[in-house]
Amino acid sequence: MRSETISIHGGFDHDPATMAVAPPIYQTVAYEFDSADHGAALFNLEVEGFRYSRIANPTTAILEKRVALLESGIGALAVASGQAALAYAFLTLADRGGSIVAPPTLYGTSHTLLAHTLRGNGVEARFAASERAQDLAPLIDATTRAIFCESIGNPAGNICDIAALAELAHAHGVPLIVDNTVATPILLKPIDHGADIVVHSLTKFMGGHGVAMGGAIVDAGRFDWRAHAARFPQFSEPDESYHGMIYADHFGAEAFLARARSVYQRTTGAVLAPMSAFLLLQGIETVSLRMQRHVENGRAVAHWLRPDPRIAWVDYAGFPDSPYHALAEKYLAGRASSLLTFGVTGGLEAAKRFYDALKLVKRLVNIGDARSLCCHPASTTHRQMTPDEQLRAGVRPETVRLSVGLEHADDIIEDLDQALAAVEVAERAK
Ligand code: PLP
Repeated sequence: MRSETISIHGGFDHDPATMAVAPPIYQTVAYEFDSADHGAALFNLEVEGFRYSRIANPTTAILEKRVALLESGIGALAVASGQAALAYAFLTLADRGGSIVAPPTLYGTSHTLLAHTLRGNGVEARFAASERAQDLAPLIDATTRAIFCESIGNPAGNICDIAALAELAHAHGVPLIVDNTVATPILLKPIDHGADIVVHSLTKFMGGHGVAMGGAIVDAGRFDWRAHAARFPQFSEPDESYHGMIYADHFGAEAFLARARSVYQRTTGAVLAPMSAFLLLQGIETVSLRMQRHVENGRAVAHWLRPDPRIAWVDYAGFPDSPYHALAEKYLAGRASSLLTFGVTGGLEAAKRFYDALKLVKRLVNIGDARSLCCHPASTTHRQMTPDEQLRAGVRPETVRLSVGLEHADDIIEDLDQALAAVEVAERAK
């Protein structure tokens, strides 16, 4: 089936108990066993079924199947947020120590997770000078457990050459993890270009309405953990915490997801609530239509902003002279993201005035909502980074990030216009 159909039907036809066609919200913590032996068989993973919602829940399972199908993966683990998904993905691969190699253009908290939080777990983050494969290559060695990138960087809007990064990763015997939050599988399916693991913040464009947090890890099921057992012994050695289970033996191609679920979700519990899984499923039903409108509105706003003398610069991969235009053609079929960054003429002070004068566009830190959203990354999402790290992530002091929503494009533009006029009035009054 095509993405438009999967987003509505994927992973669920109807509820066998009631014939309901909307995914039921299984608001339950636990599931009754037929007998002591049945309970033991479930815990031994000898029979299929649900035990406790910290491990799996039927509503969340529908979401997992749908996201996996949309991303061409063999399965998924849905968790409480995008950050939890990233943390579990990195830890599942590198919790016996090791390095993760990444470009500098990452969402601020993902950078902090790698550079600071996971350092305490023996994970070393190595950031390259750019997202180009030749800049990442020298950082890879025997300690490396993965290459990680955002398919479309937040907020820089840079596009990674996923096929080139996958080739590089595989040449060194490591998987490529791609955060596909900004693109969504509607614009780009990283697994089709060689990625091994795809991570999502479902909170953003996938859910699409800013009402539920969630994250997902999708596995392509292609990485051969046994063949790389020296680098990844955790998949082919007995797990003491799970009565000696060997993930590669028991789960085969699903070993990575099984370990993420059995070790990290089970013992640290960043569980997605069934109600949130339902809300995210509702959002995903319309993701293809919404992405189409996001792209159209993003294009209209970018082209309106650029020639305006009150705007200093606009970064948008849809411009023919953008350094990412060719990659936008190759990976997004020309559908550049509606996540834009720009500078207001007059620098930081002018940017702040513009920001404060917005009326329709919301001042907040989120992206991918039906509403148009605006933030100042240097003082919010990327605040924990040094000024140098910010610049390498594409965040200048005056950068304004705009997530163009689904309103009428003219209404968004009129709001931007009146906010820029307010900057001019303030400048003249000086
Ligand atoms: N990845 C990207 C690209 C993001 O933009 C975000 C949040 O903005 C995250 C991950 C984290 O997602 P969440 O807020 O759901 O934890």
